[in-house]
Amino acid sequence: MYDSFAGYEADRQSIDERHKERSLKQRAVLGSAGDVRVAGHCYCCGRDSVFTIHWDGKTSPNWREEFKCERCGLNTRLRGSVQAFEKLCKPWPRTRIYATEYATPFFEWLLRHYPNATGSEFSGIQLPVPEGIPDERWARACRTENVTALSFPGQEFDAVLSFDVLEHVPDYRKALGEFFRVLKPGGRIVLTAPFIEHNPQTIIRARIDQDGVIEHLLPPEYHGDPISDAGCLCYYHFGWDLLDEFSAAGFEDVQSRFYWSMRLGYPGNQHLITARRPRSRAAEKLSGGTIRR
Ligand SMILES: [Zn+2]
Repeated sequence: MYDSFAGYEADRQSIDERHKERSLKQRAVLGSAGDVRVAGHCYCCGRDSVFTIHWDGKTSPNWREEFKCERCGLNTRLRGSVQAFEKLCKPWPRTRIYATEYATPFFEWLLRHYPNATGSEFSGIQLPVPEGIPDERWARACRTENVTALSFPGQEFDAVLSFDVLEHVPDYRKALGEFFRVLKPGGRIVLTAPFIEHNPQTIIRARIDQDGVIEHLLPPEYHGDPISDAGCLCYYHFGWDLLDEFSAAGFEDVQSRFYWSMRLGYPGNQHLITARRPRSRAAEKLSGGTIRR
């Protein structure tokens, strides 16, 4: 857990050694090319399960987006994020949670466990109500929202969960400001996005020019989009300066967290960012945040 690039760099030697050790363990698990099944314990299912990944035998496998649990279908990044969220936020079943997605297996999992959760997509999409979730709960939970201009009142949620959405938002600073605004004092955000751990600075891959036209500074990279086959353009590969942007939005206790566990099905070098809206106005002032309601 690090709150700055300097702290991370100071530990760099031991981090690199740990990476090497873990790579060897991962290589041993893969065995030969093909569909690989690995027994372990799924935090989201609360029981032993099997994680699966397809390996071509040559390139490094995508541990982050694959290695799905055979029971809940959630990949490494989402299972790890759920565990971090529950450990940090200690939520109750009625806790108010805002997730920046709903057309995903993750949101179905969330709504089954937290009936007061709200999810949003940028464009509305009609989906069949998942089995076991009451129609009314599903209809109430799913919203169409622009994360740079949320329609929720201020201090509405105990937690904000945003997984691999921020890199698709050209004005991501505005989105961080909105996440801050809708959180209750003391509320936490758990966020994942492409993060280059060796980079102090964010890489800008694309931007919007004055005429509203997308300008590609690097070859366009599209990520899977649950509501569109075209995929979603990635504007940023974030670096450590993203932590400063959280602080500028008013957050405190901004931490970059890395985790790895073969038993829990978290191979690769997994990463997430956590931060908290200060509990009191005095603390908000100290951290430089602006209070907006
Ligand atoms: Zn599972």
